[in-house]
Amino acid sequence: MKRPFIFVLLLSFLIVIISVFNSFIFYDDDEGAISRAKNEQKDKNYESVDEKSPKINVYNADEDKTEEMDMEEYLYGVLSSEMPSTFDEEALKAQAISARTYVVYKIENNINSGHKNAAVCTNSAHCQAYTSYDDLLKKKGKEWIKSDYQKVKKAVDETKGQILTYNDKAILPLYFSTSSGKTENSKDVFSTQYPYLVSVDSPYEENSPKYITTYSIDKNKFIKSLKNIYPSIKLSIDQLENQVKILNRTEGGCVKTIQLGDVKLSGIDIRKILNLNSANFTIEYNNNNMEFIVKGYGHGVGMSQWGAQGMAKEGYKYYDILFHYFKGTDIKDTY
Ligand SMILES: [Zn+2]
Repeated sequence: MKRPFIFVLLLSFLIVIISVFNSFIFYDDDEGAISRAKNEQKDKNYESVDEKSPKINVYNADEDKTEEMDMEEYLYGVLSSEMPSTFDEEALKAQAISARTYVVYKIENNINSGHKNAAVCTNSAHCQAYTSYDDLLKKKGKEWIKSDYQKVKKAVDETKGQILTYNDKAILPLYFSTSSGKTENSKDVFSTQYPYLVSVDSPYEENSPKYITTYSIDKNKFIKSLKNIYPSIKLSIDQLENQVKILNRTEGGCVKTIQLGDVKLSGIDIRKILNLNSANFTIEYNNNNMEFIVKGYGHGVGMSQWGAQGMAKEGYKYYDILFHYFKGTDIKDTY
C-alpha cells in the first residue's frame, strides 16, 4: 500500500540528485569563464580563399635596413620568436593569426612610425620579435628545425591569410605572456578603449612559470629609487607601511592608484620603476624588506599566451581562444 508513496519519494530524490549534478557540470559556464561548450560544435573551417600571400616590408632594427619578405615566411620567424614552440598547435595557430593581424592592422592604418616605409620592425619592444631561418638554425640547431620549426610552420600554413576583424576591419591584436586570472581593459593600460580589448576571465594560467613571482627590495633602496624620480617625495623607513597604500585596482586586478607619502602613482609607474613582471601586485613587509607579490607577466591586454595554451590543453580550438580574448571579433580569410 505504501509502494506509490515510496516510488514518488524515490523519484523526487532522483530529480534533486540530477539537478545538483547538472549544476556542478555547468558550473564553469554559469560563471561565464569561457562559455562556449567545447567539443559540442563541429570544427569550423575558415579557409575560403586560396591566393598568393602578399609581400611586406620589414625593418630589421639590428641591421638598420628594410627587407621585402613574403608575409607567411615572415610569420614563421615571428611565431618562432614570440611563443614557445612546445605550445599546443591550437595556441600556436591563435598566435599566428594575431601576428598576421598585427601586420595588416599596421598597413591598413598606415602606422609605420620609426621604421622607414616598413609596416613592422623586428624589435619586440616596438612591434613583434622576428628571427630569420638562418639565425634559428644557428641558435636552435638542426633537430629543432626538423621538429619544432615544422610545427610552427604548420600553424602558420593552416591559418594562411586568416586575420581577426571587428566591423570587417583588422583589429589591434595585443597579446602578452601571462595574466593574473583576468585580462585588462585597454583603456586602463593604454588609455584608449577598443571594444574588443576588454577584461575577460583567463582561468588556465597556473602552468605559467611567471603566474606568481616575488620581488624583494630593501626599504631603503625602495625609497631611494622613488626619490631618484620624485626628489621631494615624503617617505620614511619607519613609517613606510602606513605611507604606502594601494587605493584602487582596475577591473583586471592591476593596481590603478597607489599612495606613496604625498605622491600618487599608478601601478604601471611602480612596475616600470621596480621592473616588476606586471602591475598586479600586493605588498608585504618583512623586517627591512618589502616584498611585492606579482601576478602575471606583461601588460595584461588582449590574449594571454599561457592562457591560450591552457585553453588549447582543455580542448578549445584556435578560434575559441581568439574569440574569447578578443570580444566580438570574427575571422576573415584574406588570401
Ligand atoms: Zn616597430
